[in-house]
Amino acid sequence: MTVFEDLESEVRSYCRNWPVVFDTAKGSRLTDVDGNSYLDFFGGAGALNYGHNPEVLKGPLLEYFQRDGITHGLDMYTTAKGEFLHTFEDVILKPRGLDYKVQFPGPTGANAVESALKLARKITGKEALINFTNAFHGMTLGALSVTGNSMKRGGAGIPLVHSTPMPFDNYFDGKFPDFLWFEKVLDDAGSSLNDPAAVIVETVQGEGGLNPARIEWLQGLRDLCTRKGLLMIVDDVQMGCGRTGPFFSFEIAGIQPDIVTISKSISGYGLPMALVLIKPEYDQWGPGEHNGTFRGNNPAFVTATHTLRHWWSDDVLERDTLRKGEKIEEAFAKIVKDTTGTTECFQKGRGMARGIQFDEEGLAEKVAAKAFEHRLLLETAGPDDEVLKLLPPLTTSDDELDEGLAIIAESVRTVTGS
Ligand code: PMP
Repeated sequence: MTVFEDLESEVRSYCRNWPVVFDTAKGSRLTDVDGNSYLDFFGGAGALNYGHNPEVLKGPLLEYFQRDGITHGLDMYTTAKGEFLHTFEDVILKPRGLDYKVQFPGPTGANAVESALKLARKITGKEALINFTNAFHGMTLGALSVTGNSMKRGGAGIPLVHSTPMPFDNYFDGKFPDFLWFEKVLDDAGSSLNDPAAVIVETVQGEGGLNPARIEWLQGLRDLCTRKGLLMIVDDVQMGCGRTGPFFSFEIAGIQPDIVTISKSISGYGLPMALVLIKPEYDQWGPGEHNGTFRGNNPAFVTATHTLRHWWSDDVLERDTLRKGEKIEEAFAKIVKDTTGTTECFQKGRGMARGIQFDEEGLAEKVAAKAFEHRLLLETAGPDDEVLKLLPPLTTSDDELDEGLAIIAESVRTVTGS
């Protein structure tokens, strides 16, 4: 372990919670150098929706390497990119009646967000943006400026300007009508709100603590954007690619954002890849105006193509995700019930993005640490890490789900003494 502690920067984080050296992984399990097996309900923070090293993708990937297919190609036309685009259009866009141009930014979520924000400013000629309380959009300066978390914002070291936060759904526990403040300041010439180009929103706030926006809130936001001439950017980096059930998390609201960001599980194999989807009339980029060396991760295109063919040509995965999400919900309801009286907690989330929020400070982290003793990987989220967060691979079997949920129940019992 010393090489990591001696040489790797203090910025390292997840490894501090899971201080073992991992060596191999398959499906929903990781194995460390001592041969211990861990159940993975962290799922690469949403980058491993199909588990580790899925066989259906590994074969085509190895074949592609074997035949010396293009590995690095900037944004050149390649067969791998062409096949991905055809498949994305046939399997994802057309069946949903969606018409988007596809931009390949650098391969991270933050790069997709930067690109979306730049484009919104270019289209409208306006600087200002609207973000939402407890949002998370990435760690680069533009993405941080629309992110809520004060610790992460503090890391910027410069003022983060040009965006105004509005209350996310349920910020006031339903005490006020949706968009009361937002609409008031938009309409009031004396409000001092800088005229915004766009809103950027997550349908379920992942890092912010598994906060789901209601369908009617999302529809209300779409309607507000249309009425007031704001572009609507949905950041589907974490909740897209089936995490909440449908491929795009906004599908349940029947809305069409103007710009969508996708990354994390789009390659299906955990390989870096990101997309910005742009309504054709808004594809106003000049050639090379948003650039980057790694915009064409061709091995990722290969696995992404096979992911779409294998998991998204029918609705089996979507239905299964919703069913497993309900199973997690039931198990969490029991945990919450059993804990009542000892400590206050409640559950939140959608599909297979689920969490339990604890009132008592530090409790969620203690539960995650206890679960790790039982060899289960879990994350925490929320501004004070008050939410125990689950993002298991969507392909996790029912037996594995039962196993992990039993560990969580046991860990909560031990930590709370309930
Ligand atoms: N947007 C959202 C909604 C995210 O959850 C994340 C990452 N957690 C990002 C953007 C940034 O993605 P990346 O870490 O790949 O830059």
